[in-house]
Amino acid sequence: MPTPSARRALDDIPVYRPGKPAESDELKLSSNENPYPPLPGVMEKATEALGRVNRYPDAGVADLYAALARTYGLPQERFAASTGSVAVLFSLLTAFCEQGDEIIYAWRSFEAYPIGADLTGARTIRVPLRPDATHDLDAMAAAVTEHTRVVIVCTPNNPTGPVATHAELERFVEAVPDDVIIVVDEAYVEFVRQDDAASGLALADHENVIVLRTFSKAFGLAGLRVGYAIAAPSVAESIRKAIAPFSVTDVAQAAAVASLDATDALAERVETIVAERARVLAALRDQGWDVPDSQANFVWLPLGDDSLDFAAACDPVSVRPFAGDGVRVTIGDPDVNDRFLDVAERWLK
Ligand code: PMP
Repeated sequence: MPTPSARRALDDIPVYRPGKPAESDELKLSSNENPYPPLPGVMEKATEALGRVNRYPDAGVADLYAALARTYGLPQERFAASTGSVAVLFSLLTAFCEQGDEIIYAWRSFEAYPIGADLTGARTIRVPLRPDATHDLDAMAAAVTEHTRVVIVCTPNNPTGPVATHAELERFVEAVPDDVIIVVDEAYVEFVRQDDAASGLALADHENVIVLRTFSKAFGLAGLRVGYAIAAPSVAESIRKAIAPFSVTDVAQAAAVASLDATDALAERVETIVAERARVLAALRDQGWDVPDSQANFVWLPLGDDSLDFAAACDPVSVRPFAGDGVRVTIGDPDVNDRFLDVAERWLK
């Protein structure tokens, strides 16, 4: 009996298999989440919106686009929002790529890129990171061909942590043809403190540069799923066309808008995480670890073949191993970070 078969593009996409759940939220340093509860004002606004979930959400996401336009001083036409910046990226790739096209990204980088890219049926080209775990933007520019539609730059890079420099990104934007989309994924931008770090936003006047940002990390709304692109109006419009209707719920929208208003509390929390990141990085280096810089809310241990064993040794603290490559550890509460640091110290002995 013939059975329905999915597109061949799906063949290499792994089925999601949940790992062992963390014993508690505090012990979960595996998903780059924010350890803090929602920002002031968020619960009230979200709860209000919860009272009318018998209604469909606002399909035009009007409040959020208005709030983003105010925040950035840009016209609303330049934004496209969906259920997390991953969903925005998938819609963008769907809108611009098909079989016969090429999509370039660095590797190792964010795990969702291969899924979104493969779904389109396009060919993907992975350009290895440099030994210091940074993007090799010159090599990525050199990999562009007449078939290339999209190049993704993740800065800070998940899971390794460093940023591209602004000079490097500028040179890259100059080198890549104007009809190739450059996605600058800035999911962790609020945590960046390096003076010469790349800013996708500063280059977003180029019509082929698209910046991705999210409420999931610094703003602490990972569970509500809101992210957005900042793009040229025509590009933003194409992305919005490819987003499933009613993706952003009114609860998520209300929470996101309220979060944008809580600038002082946000700055304070981000500063605490940045300081804790510096403490964890310094402690690891004191212990003798050779770890790359991180400008995000996690650190990277290049453990190679020991990655899975190290993650097991961290139990019950839950960290994220990438088999054969390394382990990513989110900056959490100081006492949980200390438990991870204890394991790291014993590991080297
Ligand atoms: N980009 C990068 C580099 C990420 O690490 C993440 C979250 N893991 C995202 C995008 C997506 O975040 P979200 O879909 O929650 O907005």
